Order: sequence, then structure tokens, then C-alpha cells
Amino acid sequence: MRIELCKIKVKDVFDGFIDKGEDGVFAYGGKLTIRPPYQREFVYDLKQQEAVLHTVLKKFPLNTMYWVKTADDEYEVLDGQQRTLSVMQFLSHKLQITVDGKAYYNDSLPDDLYDNLMDYEFMVYICEGTESEKLDWFKIVNVAGEELTPQELRNSVYTGAWLSDAKRHFSKSNCAAKGLSDKYITGTPIRQELLEKALKGIVEFKGLKKIEDYMAAHKSDADADELWQYFQDVIHWIEKIFPKYNKKMKGLDWCHLYNKYHKNTYNSSVMKAEVDRLMADDEVGKPAGIYEYLLSKDEDPFAGKLLQLRAFDERDKRAKYAEQGGICPICHKHFEYEGMAGDHIKPWSKGGKTEPDNLQMLCKDCNGKKSDKY
Ligand SMILES: [Zn+2]
Repeated sequence: MRIELCKIKVKDVFDGFIDKGEDGVFAYGGKLTIRPPYQREFVYDLKQQEAVLHTVLKKFPLNTMYWVKTADDEYEVLDGQQRTLSVMQFLSHKLQITVDGKAYYNDSLPDDLYDNLMDYEFMVYICEGTESEKLDWFKIVNVAGEELTPQELRNSVYTGAWLSDAKRHFSKSNCAAKGLSDKYITGTPIRQELLEKALKGIVEFKGLKKIEDYMAAHKSDADADELWQYFQDVIHWIEKIFPKYNKKMKGLDWCHLYNKYHKNTYNSSVMKAEVDRLMADDEVGKPAGIYEYLLSKDEDPFAGKLLQLRAFDERDKRAKYAEQGGICPICHKHFEYEGMAGDHIKPWSKGGKTEPDNLQMLCKDCNGKKSDKY
């Protein structure tokens, strides 16, 4: 890892400054990305912006900033985005500040102050190194700076054609991935939440360990088509198996469910009838669990716990305990109340309800051995 301390004049950074909104903010003769395309905007309030400008106009030192070298003579601001933007926005007439009780735009500033501003030197650490070195180091720097999310940090390390294409699909506010998945998957594109979810999904799908492994292997790919196709497969799979939409479907970990169950076959008419039946069942405490329950119930005897079925309340259990005289009806031994659990005599799957006459108190051992608990 090489880290070099450089002094860079404000007028050089301002050269070629252009704010393209969601398409990014660039400066330093086009060599510096202040904010990459499709990254969320941090916004300093006016007071914070003014504080930056007062510091600069008085020639006091600002904290050191960090730039990452992304290619020969190309850089991206890792830390210092807001401080840089505050100065750039003032210079491009977007910001009015008050100095000694007087309001100024950039062009009304007295000459000496204007010169102070243009000749001011940003102290910048420019860093260069392997991807894992940079990532480790960025995580530490990030603690002190304008916080980037873990995926924003990864994006500043694994740059290239693959990332640009991935961001086009997943990170624009009105991107295709958002349009396709909005009913099912939560996440703000510009905060890289959708990209991160898709990556997490494909990493699990391919049996990799970390998002970094996938990004490192693909950063030089010409495009991110593989990831985009995977994501579309996930959404189309949901729509095939559960063609009737329900709001409870939004926010489930659909990539994970796809990875786990996509090789099974399901009948969509049966699924639809089952969803309707379970949605209407007031024993089901967690309707959002219905989808995974239906996907997994043929393989998993404990799938019922996904539904958070109703449990007996304390009063009914105490009453039943007294009625049984503390005796477990299976092993016929006596237990303290705390050593027993409320059990459905007729399980939920066979139509049993959470009502006192379907309740028995079993010792925890016998309850654990019961095969049809749900
Ligand atoms: Zn027992």
C-alpha cells in the first residue's frame, strides 16, 4: 500500500468541475470523481458548508482528505466529499455565505479573499494498493469520515466496466432492477442496497464466501450480464410459483429462497390455494412466513415454526397444570410448572386450534419427542 500526501490547490480541483446530478460529480480536469454516478448524495447543511468556507478563507487547515487512485492519473474521493463540494458549489455560484455580517456569492467576494480561496491547498492522501489492502484501509478511514455503506466501499475498490454496467442495472433511482423487483425486494438503489442484495444472492448461489470474491473475479468483465440475469431469474421464479401478489411478499429474502428451492417443482394453483387458506387462518401469527413454509414443508418437519403459530397463554396453561395435578400424561411423572410446556393435543396441521380443550401440559422431554408438533 502506497499512501502519498499531496497539496492540491483549490483552483486546480475546480478546473473542469461539473455536477451531473445522479450521473456523478467530476473535477480536477476530469481526473477526479468527487461523487461516482448513482451514489447517494450526502448533503451538508448551510451552516456546515459555511464553516468549511470560513476555514478556507481564513487559511486555516481543513482535515486531511483521502483520494483513491483508480487508474493512471484518475482518482476518486473516498473521504472529503462534502468539504470539496462545499467549496466547489460556492465557486460555481450555487451557494451564498456570510462573512463578518456580509453576504457574498463567489463573484462578490473581495479580491484578497477570492485569492485566498483559489490558492488554498487541500491536504490529500492519495492511496494506491491491492484491492484487499484498500478495502481494509477504507473501512478504518470510513469510521472518521462521511460514512460510506459497505457496498459503497466495495464499489470504490472494484471499479471498472463490470461495476459501471452493474450500477446501470441496479443503482440508478429508476433502474431496471428496481422496476422489476420493487414489489418483492426492499432497498434504495442509490444507496447500493439493491446491488448488494443481488450480489449477496449470487454469492450464495455460486457457493462463494464473500461479495468481495465475486467482485474481484468479475471486475474486468465487459458487463454485469451474469448478475443481471441471475436477478431476473429470481423475480421470474417468484412470479411463476406465486402468481397472485400479496403485500406480505415484499421484503422477504427472495434471493436466498430462490437459491434454496429453485430446483424443486411446485404447482402454482396448489400454491395459490394454500396461500389463500393460510392467510385466512387466524392461528398463523406471521403471514409473511407462509411463502417459505410452503416452499419447505415437504422437506422440513419443523417448517411450521416459520408461521409463528399461536401459543397458549399463561393463564390457560396454569389452569391446565393444576387440573393435571402436575402429571405429564405421556410419562406419568410429576413436574414443576416451569418444567412443562403447553401442547396442542390435535396439531395445527390436522385442524387443531389454540383453545383450552385442545391443550395438554407435557414435560419438556416428552414435548420435544412429539413428532407432529405443528
Ligand atoms: Zn413426560
